[in-house]
Parts: sequence; structure tokens; C-alpha cells
Amino acid sequence: MCGVFGVWGVPEASRITYLGLHGLQHRGQESAGIVTAEGDNLFSFKRMGRVADVFDEKSLNQLPGTVAIGHVRYSTQGMSIVKNAQPFAVEFAGTSLAIAHNGNLTNANELRAELEAAGSLFHTTMDTEVFVHMLARAEGTLVERLQKVLPRVRGAFSVLILTPNQMVAVRDPHGFRPLVLGRSSQGRPVLASESSALRLVEAVPERELEPGEILHIDTNGETSHRISEDTTPSPRQCIFEHIYFARPDSHIFGARVYEVRKAIGRRLAVEQPVADADVVIPVPDSGTAAAIGYAQEAGLPYEMGLIRSHYAGRTFIEPSSSIRHFGVKLKLSPVEHVIRDRSVVVVDDSIVRGTTSRKIVRMLRDAGAKAVHMRIACPPTTHSCFYGIDTPTRGELIAATQSMDAIRNFLDADSVGYLSIDGLHDSMSGRSGYCDACFTGNYPVPVPQLHFQQKLTERD
Ligand code: SF4
Repeated sequence: MCGVFGVWGVPEASRITYLGLHGLQHRGQESAGIVTAEGDNLFSFKRMGRVADVFDEKSLNQLPGTVAIGHVRYSTQGMSIVKNAQPFAVEFAGTSLAIAHNGNLTNANELRAELEAAGSLFHTTMDTEVFVHMLARAEGTLVERLQKVLPRVRGAFSVLILTPNQMVAVRDPHGFRPLVLGRSSQGRPVLASESSALRLVEAVPERELEPGEILHIDTNGETSHRISEDTTPSPRQCIFEHIYFARPDSHIFGARVYEVRKAIGRRLAVEQPVADADVVIPVPDSGTAAAIGYAQEAGLPYEMGLIRSHYAGRTFIEPSSSIRHFGVKLKLSPVEHVIRDRSVVVVDDSIVRGTTSRKIVRMLRDAGAKAVHMRIACPPTTHSCFYGIDTPTRGELIAATQSMDAIRNFLDADSVGYLSIDGLHDSMSGRSGYCDACFTGNYPVPVPQLHFQQKLTERD
């Protein structure tokens, strides 16, 4: 859960990157950072918080140059502290280097132990730092170093690297996380996790980086390389990006996210109809497009029965227990006349622990719903993600431990219906090469047992 953005050869690179990070804010709200290059130096500014809170005129003025990379973070690995904010900038082989990473490495612990035994001193608890130490120990140009190092790195990585005179964009051989190349109005390369960020800075999306591609940019232009010339790409792009994570106005993995979500909703209506329904409402925002598809297919009215507050950040104040369901009320509010005395189909993107869904059902009942039918735009989430999405341990996933009846009882819904795994894949309109491990347990990159245990420890 992170977003990366980079721009090469444009005036006010830090301000363009600042805007681009706004377009990726949904991918991480814990910290934000920008590193620019001018002359022989890199300039860095990063803080905890959202993009608009981290940067102002003063901080952006401290970031000169026509080249920049930026990062928004939601921690999936390493603690949520400013030391772990990215881009991560270091002195490297006589020069400076900064790195911004979206994803999770599954063999970071082994690589780290190996590097520490060989004398490397780590400054953060992030898996991203492993890249830097491995690159420092390799030899050759930056691309040659990457080609030596990356075949040993397992897991998910869409990465931007900046030195004073070159930028590199890399996508792991499975392409778990998206990374899109666009063009500025001056024809300069702009890179972003999602196309939504490119359009915000008026860059035109050109193509997605291929899984396993290294794109090198310097004053001589752009060259494309492979991480390894020997291996055939085997895409396993994160299907959950399409369900929940990416912005619906983005185009990733060769598809428009909004259209994929509507197709999912249509299929959900076929697989999980509700006989006596009066209205379809979404849990906004990520359930919205699927609810539109559901309503269209079912021939039911679509209404905004829940309104999301976009201003609810993290809160540190717990009210007295007399205010029930406080957390969800900060974010969602019912439109009572849409719900009252109606049989409501409520479409959400997924159910993780079930606690939020239960509060939503309660909220709809309190607003006068005659019946509440939960419809979920993906299959039951039964496995944790180790490739860059923050999911809890298996034991905390309601669908991993409870029967459908028990889930319905827990949510106190009149019915609960999930999309099938076939229905999910069919909704991709013939495209294939997805990771669906959180629904099937078919992990495309093996996850060491240690990793399962570490996830548990981090959450304890
Ligand atoms: Fe995406 Fe799920 Fe695979 Fe993680 S396990 S990469 S969330 S599909």
C-alpha cells in the first residue's frame, strides 16, 4: 500500500511531483516524501502525514531541480515512523541515491541477515533498504547492478531510483503492483503507480512498464532492459488492485478500473440475486462502481444510501461508550429517506474482519431498513497478502475461520453473498495473469513460514 511518482527534465519537478502524489494519496496516508536532483546533489524532504500536510511553499522551495521522485506510504513492512518514510536517500558508491518502493519483499529477512553478516549496517526496519545495500555491493553501471541484484530479490516491487544524473524505474517479474509511464506536455517521461496521477499533472499515459522491465532514463534518453534476459515474464498482477485499491479513474493492468468494477457488480447480481430488493446502495467509495453494475444488471434503482466523509482522518479521541459505532460514523452516514422501509442491497468491495460490515448493517437497520442484504464484490478473503497490501493474519480474517452462516449471523444481515472466484476472473474480460492468493491461497511467490510468524508479531 504505497504510491510512487517520478518526473524527468521538467521545470518545477518538486511541484509536479507534489501534485502527482496528491493523485496517489489513496495509496498511502501515513507519510509523504520527495527527493529532487540538481548538479551533483540530491535534496530530500519527507514527513509523517498526508501530502497536503507535509509540503508547503517553504519545503517545496528546498527541493530544486528538474528531476524528482516521490512516495506516499502506508506501512505493510517496517514501523510507521518518519525514519521509515520514503524516498529513502543514501550515499552510495561515491554518489547519492534515493529509492521509492511500492510492494513487499518476501525474502527481505534472509537477505538482510546475509548482508548484516557481511558488515552492512541498516538504518531502518524497511525491506526497501535491502535493495540499497545489495546495489552498493554489486559492481558496474546502475542497470548492471540491478541485473545482478534483482534476480535474488523475491516478492513485489515497483520501484523508482534517482541519482544526480539518472533515474530508473523497475517492476518485479510478476508485476504485482502497477507502474505507468506517461509523457509531460514537453514530451518528458513521467512515472506513476496509477494513471490517475499522470492526468492530474496533464501527462498523457503511454504504457505500463512490463513485468520484469528496467527503464533507464538520463540525458541521453530512455532505454529499456530486462531484470533477467533468461526468464520469461510470468505476470501475477494483484487482482485486488482492481477490486479495491486502485482509483476507479485509473487504467491499470490493461483495463479501466471503473469498468472492471462494474463488470464485477453485474456478475455479482447474476450470482447473488435478491428476490425482494427495493434499492441497491454502495459502501462508498470502493463499492460504488460495483453497486452501479449490480443495479443495472438487476434492474433495480441505484441510490447513494450512505455518504462518506472525506475529511475523517485518524482520530486519537475515543468518545464515551454511549456513542456506539463511533469509528464508522465518522466516515459513513446514512441517507435515511433512501433506506427507510426498504429492502436494501448494500454492495461493498470486500470483508476483512467483518467488524466494519457489521457496523454498516447496524447503521442501515437504525436508519429504518426493512431488510439488509450484503453483497460482496470479491470472493471470501481467506488468506493474508504478503505482496504489499495490508491485510491482517489469517486468524483475523472472518472468512478464514467462519462458515457463511456464522458470517451472516455476525453481520446481522438478512443475507450475505460473495462473488465466486470464477466470477471474479470472468469479470476481467479475458485478461489473465493475476494474483488471487488472498482468495485462493495460491501464492505465486512462496512465503517463508517466518514471514507468517512475523506478520503475527508485528500486529501483537
Ligand atoms: Fe493482491 Fe491478494 Fe495477491 Fe496480495 S494476495 S497481491 S492483495 S491478489
